[in-house]
Amino acid sequence: MDIEKLYDLSPLVNDTERLVLEELGSRLEEETANGLCDCQDCVLDVITLALNALKPRYHASLMGTMYAHAAELNGYTNTVKEAVDKAIFRVRANPSHS
Ligand SMILES: [Zn+2]
Repeated sequence: MDIEKLYDLSPLVNDTERLVLEELGSRLEEETANGLCDCQDCVLDVITLALNALKPRYHASLMGTMYAHAAELNGYTNTVKEAVDKAIFRVRANPSHS
């Protein structure tokens, strides 16, 4: 059975992904000025490293959004920030190209 053909999965959202993209988006200019390469490969490396260090937080409903909001208040954004910090540090020190 092909679930993706039978059901509309577009309401499925990973809040962790959303938070990582927001965090990196707000800092990319500054980090680029500090030596981070902002090419497609390096930005995807940063995002991948950060996401793999974090737990996914999927939701598909309004309840999920409320849960995610509570999680933000409980300091999850700090955890996301730290994961993005580490990912930027690693990619800046060791970009996937010369
Ligand atoms: Zn690059």
